[in-house]
Amino acid sequence: MNEIECHDKNCPIHGDIKIRGNKFIGKVVSDKAQKTVIVSIDYTTYVPKYERYLRKRSRIPAHNPECIKAKKGDLVEINEVRKISKTKSFVVTKIIERGLA
Ligand SMILES: [Zn+2]
Repeated sequence: MNEIECHDKNCPIHGDIKIRGNKFIGKVVSDKAQKTVIVSIDYTTYVPKYERYLRKRSRIPAHNPECIKAKKGDLVEINEVRKISKTKSFVVTKIIERGLA
């Protein structure tokens, strides 16, 4: 791994934000915002009435630290942190797999 200078105070490794709570794995579907990515998470919920699993998808805005730089199409791990902004309370902690594009 090459060292990248990181001045992001909301970075879980170099900043002062602490990881806690839920952890998810999802795919980056948007990297249009400067330091935010939208991560899509697939999950299933059980519906007792029909005794079936329902496939669901949720989109979570997550902070994208300078040293991680997740891009659209990447498979990433996100972790819950304290609220960073009005809509963000997750941070990208690592890239599991780089996207092709
Ligand atoms: Zn960093």
